[in-house]
Amino acid sequence: MARAFDTDLQHFAEEAHVHGAVVPPIFQNSLFVFDSLEQFQSEMEAGSTEPGRHVYSRITNPTLEVVERKIARLEGAESAKVFASGMGAISSAIMSCVAQGAHVVCVDTAYGPTMQFLRDYLPRFGVATTFVEGSCVDEVMDAFRPETTLLYLESPSSILFKFQDFETLCRLAHERGASVAADNSYASPVYQNPTRFGVDLVLHSASKYLGGHSDIVAGALATSRERMSRILRDEVALYGAALAPFPAWLMLRGMRTLAVRMRAHRETGDVVASWLSGRAEVERVFHASDPAHPQRDLFLKQMTGSSGLLSFLPAFQDRERVRRFVEGLEVFQLGVSWGGFESLVVPLQMQPIGWDEQRWVIRLHCGLEDVGDLVADLDRAFDRAR
Ligand SMILES: *Cc1c(COP(=O)(O)O)cnc(C)c1O
Repeated sequence: MARAFDTDLQHFAEEAHVHGAVVPPIFQNSLFVFDSLEQFQSEMEAGSTEPGRHVYSRITNPTLEVVERKIARLEGAESAKVFASGMGAISSAIMSCVAQGAHVVCVDTAYGPTMQFLRDYLPRFGVATTFVEGSCVDEVMDAFRPETTLLYLESPSSILFKFQDFETLCRLAHERGASVAADNSYASPVYQNPTRFGVDLVLHSASKYLGGHSDIVAGALATSRERMSRILRDEVALYGAALAPFPAWLMLRGMRTLAVRMRAHRETGDVVASWLSGRAEVERVFHASDPAHPQRDLFLKQMTGSSGLLSFLPAFQDRERVRRFVEGLEVFQLGVSWGGFESLVVPLQMQPIGWDEQRWVIRLHCGLEDVGDLVADLDRAFDRAR
C-alpha cells in the first residue's frame, strides 16, 4: 500500500515487532549462528544482498537493516546502507566508481573532507579530479574527459547554498558513461530526493539531520540494488566502516521526528534569514529558499523546502569583530557540524571560484530553540561586534 512520507517514516521496515515490541530491538551481536551446514552454506552464498539474511555484522545486521530499508524508501532508492560516518559512505561511494586512471568532476563547494579525499588522497592511486563551480551545465560538461567515471555533486552546498541542475547533469553524464553521486545531507529526504532526477548514489551525513540529536556520527548511501551488491562485496566488506547497532538504533529513533524537526528548522531558518537580510551589518545572506536566490528555478524544481542551515557575509571583515560577534552569541554555540537540536555558529574564511579575495563567511545552524530567542541573540551579538 502506498503511504505518505510521514507514515513511512514511522512504520516502514518495522513490521517484524519482535515479541510484540513496538520499537525494534538492538541486535548487539557480531555474528549469526546456523543449525545446519546446509543453512550455513546457503547464507554464505546469498551473501548480504538479500534482506533478512545475516552472517556477520560488519556487513549486515537486523538493526541496521531496519534503518537501511527505511532510508531507501524515503530516498526512493532500491537499497541503502548505513556507515560509521558520512565520510565512510562518501569515500566508499567514490571508490566504487573509480579505478586507476579514472577522472572525477566535482563541485568546488562540496564538503571539505570530500574535496580533500579527491584532491589530495586519490591522486596517489592515479585518480584525478577537476573541480568546477557547478552552476553552469556547459562548464561542468567541458571538464569531462574520456576517462571521467564520476560526477560528484552537493546541492545545495552547505556553506554558500549553490544548486546544481540534477536532471540535466545526470542525463549528460550518463550519456558519457559516468555515474552521478550527490550529497543530500542539507535537505534530508524530507525536502529533496535526488534519485528522482537520475542521481545514482545519494549520500548523507547522518550525523546531521537524520540523526538530529548531535549524539551519533553516522552516514548513509542509497542506490540501486545492482550497484549496492558490488558496494557490499567491495567497499563495505573490505573497508569495514560498519556502523555499530546502537548508533544505528539511535539513528532510527532520531528519524522518528525527522519530518517535524525539518519543518521547525525550515520555519526558523526562513525567519532568521529574512531578519538578517534587513541588517546593516550583513552584506549578503546565503539561504537555499531565498526568493532572490540566483538559482531560484532549481530550488523550486528540486526541493520542497530548505533547512535551518544558512550563512551570511558580514559587512565587518576584520577578525576582531568576527571574534566579538561569535563570542557575543549566547544561544548559538561556536562549533562545527549542524543538524541537531542546538543552534550553532561557525566563522569560515573562504575564497571559492569567482571571488577575487578571501572573505569571512559566518554560517549559522538554526536549531529547535525559540525563534525569538535566536533573533534576540543575533541582535545582541551584532551590538557586541560594533
Ligand atoms: C558533516 C558532513 C559530511 C561528513 O559527515 P560525517 O558524518 O561527519 O563523516 C558530509 N557532507 C556534508 C555536507 C556534511 O556537512
